[in-house]
Amino acid sequence: MSRHELPKERLGTLDPKGKRIFPHPMAVRGFFRKYRTYVYWALIAFFMVLPWIKIGGHQAVLIDIPNRQFAFFGLTFWAHDIPLIFFLLAGGALTLALVTAVWGRVWCGWACPQTVFIDAIYRKVETWIEGSHTKRMKLDQAPWSKEKIFKKSLKWLAYFIISAHIAHSFAAYFVGAEELLKMSLMAPTENWTTFLIVFFITALLMFDFGWFREQFCVIMCPYGRIQSVLMDDDSLAVVYDPNRGEPRKGYVPEGETQGDCINCFKCVAVCPTGIDIRRGIQMECIACTACIDACDEVMEKVKKPKGLIRYDSEGALSGKPKKVWKPRTFIYISLVILSFVGLFYFISQRTDVHLQVLRTYEEPYKKISDNELTNHFKVRLKNQLFDPVKVSIESTSKDIELIAPMFPLELDPGEDSTPHFFVKFKDHLTQESGKHLTPVKFKIISKNSDSEISEQISLVGPIKK
Ligand code: SF4
Ligand code: SF4
Repeated sequence: MSRHELPKERLGTLDPKGKRIFPHPMAVRGFFRKYRTYVYWALIAFFMVLPWIKIGGHQAVLIDIPNRQFAFFGLTFWAHDIPLIFFLLAGGALTLALVTAVWGRVWCGWACPQTVFIDAIYRKVETWIEGSHTKRMKLDQAPWSKEKIFKKSLKWLAYFIISAHIAHSFAAYFVGAEELLKMSLMAPTENWTTFLIVFFITALLMFDFGWFREQFCVIMCPYGRIQSVLMDDDSLAVVYDPNRGEPRKGYVPEGETQGDCINCFKCVAVCPTGIDIRRGIQMECIACTACIDACDEVMEKVKKPKGLIRYDSEGALSGKPKKVWKPRTFIYISLVILSFVGLFYFISQRTDVHLQVLRTYEEPYKKISDNELTNHFKVRLKNQLFDPVKVSIESTSKDIELIAPMFPLELDPGEDSTPHFFVKFKDHLTQESGKHLTPVKFKIISKNSDSEISEQISLVGPIKK
């Protein structure tokens, strides 16, 4: 066995006693590395900047759990909108299932925060302070010295500053960016709860991104566990082509010609999860594409075509025709469309004020003169905006008169109220059938918008015999 050969009976990141071997993947250059860096920094910038973007005077994305209010790109939601979350989660989960079925673990390699932050920031900082992967390995194995203490302390200080920054950005989605900035300028004792939560997130990030790293993907990530169910022979994955690569250098049987793999172990050296992709698709592979770039560089040097390791499917490797459009793909697409249509339908039905007119529990009508009646109603109102609103009520028919002393009324953000009103009408309206339908208009005025809601109410009165 080569000294680079990974053990078959355990993970490459574990020693024979089961103790972790801290991975120091070799830096890699190449096509995918370049575009991954662009994508990672675009995602990090988006995450950091988003809490500071305002739409309609309010934070674009805010998840205010204590007040049970949520803002999402100009839309405001409250706890009673939870059914919408079902469509959102179902749409998100099904989209992920679809993406996995077709493109494999593209999420893990290109967009998962675990990969993005570790690869774009934490490992970069480590390289700047401790040097290349070989220097880092030597430093880890070396006894404690002034240099080692200095470098390790500097690295963890940098991790603390970066983690605190990320933790504050994360908390800004829940507390509000401006509110958090104000709190940050106060003494921790004035906002103990928020301070402790941010401190805890900072410590968690330092532990996870600074030390735990890809172990999370290998042993803890639930998505990693279910991907083998979602993927099949036609799903795209990072694969090694044994038809081209084997027999690899050093293992060529007599009479056979060596394949393209020169057994340089570069693909193993760059792998952050410590696997050998030449052993086939493995659950530990997060499809980060580092081994593709590493092998392409080697192929260029030995003047062989690139792509010995590439994005491809297991089916294609075994010579089967590529089949992307399968019944499963169509089922996923239909379910994704259904979930998002449901979500957009419910969003489109939302009004600035949730409104429901109900008849009160008492006698259905009251005779107030020889030919005049009244009906008593109440209206459940809930302000669904982050701004105060003014609600007024108007009759749209000359046949009725509204007696609504509680209107116009003002509602604070998220406030609910149940004002009552009476409808006065001449008894001839209901004499024929005992009922008469008539519209009532509610005007809603807020800082940013004015709207109207028309509600049909049913008047009741005695039938003339
Ligand atoms: S980098 Fe390419 S050539 Fe080198 S061992 Fe891996 S597959 Fe073989
Ligand atoms: S095998 Fe390749 S793609 Fe998979 S995690 Fe390792 S380096 Fe990344």
